[in-house]
Amino acid sequence: MGAQQVRTLIVNARVVPCSGDVTERPFDANILIEGERISGVFPGPAPIEPGSAQVVDVQGATVIPGLCDAHTHISWPLDFVFDHAAVAAMPDDEHALEVAAVVRTFLQCGYTALVGAGALKPRVDVVIANAIDRDLIPGPRLWPSGAHITVKGGLGAGFNTEVDSPETMRRAVGEQCALGVKAVKLMASGDGIIPEFPSQTNYMDDAMVAAAVEEAETHGAFVTVHARGAESVRIAVRNGVRIVHHASFLDDLSISELSAARDHVWVCPGLHYLRSVVEGKAEPYGMSRQSVERALYPEELQASIEGLRKLHSNGVRLVAGGDFGHQWTKHGTYAAELVSYVELLGFSPIEALLTATANIGPLLGEPLGQVREGYLADLVLLDGDPTSHIAILADHDRLGPVIKGGKPILSGWGEVERWARSRIPTSR
Ligand SMILES: [Zn+2]
Repeated sequence: MGAQQVRTLIVNARVVPCSGDVTERPFDANILIEGERISGVFPGPAPIEPGSAQVVDVQGATVIPGLCDAHTHISWPLDFVFDHAAVAAMPDDEHALEVAAVVRTFLQCGYTALVGAGALKPRVDVVIANAIDRDLIPGPRLWPSGAHITVKGGLGAGFNTEVDSPETMRRAVGEQCALGVKAVKLMASGDGIIPEFPSQTNYMDDAMVAAAVEEAETHGAFVTVHARGAESVRIAVRNGVRIVHHASFLDDLSISELSAARDHVWVCPGLHYLRSVVEGKAEPYGMSRQSVERALYPEELQASIEGLRKLHSNGVRLVAGGDFGHQWTKHGTYAAELVSYVELLGFSPIEALLTATANIGPLLGEPLGQVREGYLADLVLLDGDPTSHIAILADHDRLGPVIKGGKPILSGWGEVERWARSRIPTSR
């Protein structure tokens, strides 16, 4: 450690480390941060010289790892209402400012890492990721996506990149990676909400997906796939994609193949989106009950619940995320996804929390998602215990300061202490 490195000792924390242990509950601890990393989590006094670190007393507040959403569309502005083509046609400079507001919103909600799942402008995720890395704007660590890649004339054709062969796929992926894309997004299945493209129909073959994965890997990127039906899921899994999004309609074969691949594939459901639409939350924005029924979304929600439960009991790792940014899954309500895992899948609160924390580090190959020595000091302070009540994460009155890379965002340590003093201590 260099002598100039800043040392901060957070004392009187109730830590939920998110180590992966589903019996975990908050415990009293002090957290030592050196530079951008956690250098120790101590149930008793930290073994350091008195006066060698600035001390921040959080007065019994809960501390959890920063959260991750693994299926984001940051290019959907805060007021987005399903008009993809209109957003795609916005001037780039104005649009970039809209996106800056979105990534700041994620960060303020405790999300310190995001995986892109397709952008309405090919460069915007990369531009924003670079701006965040250079500290020009506040935002989470971002694995940027590019335009969605779809088949010629397929789902989202017109404002996405269209391919029709392994060769054109390879070229499209190579071009995205050259721009700086780290998470390539393929549209393998349909999506019932667009009636011409049913959820269970598959549009990409093995050779195309294999070409995408191979090309992405040569650039240090990975592939994620929109796959609502079993056939798309199986093609994605057997060709080495990193994230299968949705996985709504699964059969026994796709479940067993996913389960066998559980060490290197993760499933990102987007369950809250389906639930909101089925519950009629999109009706005020023009998505009629008839169109939702025609989309077979009620059946898809039921199938998702059954399939995800089976995957979970087979040890397949879920990662939280999914299509926030519609007015019925509004930006800023991201933790509703975790609430749905508890309410619909029967997860315990800690199991839900792990989908946004511990499960994400191995997926991204980075030391994040845990409060643990050597890990990046991305932390969220909370008023209350999310391992008892997951909905605390979705309650902005209970959400405290957010720390990214060892620094409080949009504030200083003094502000963190002021927040801790001002909250009404909850019973333990
Ligand atoms: Zn999406």
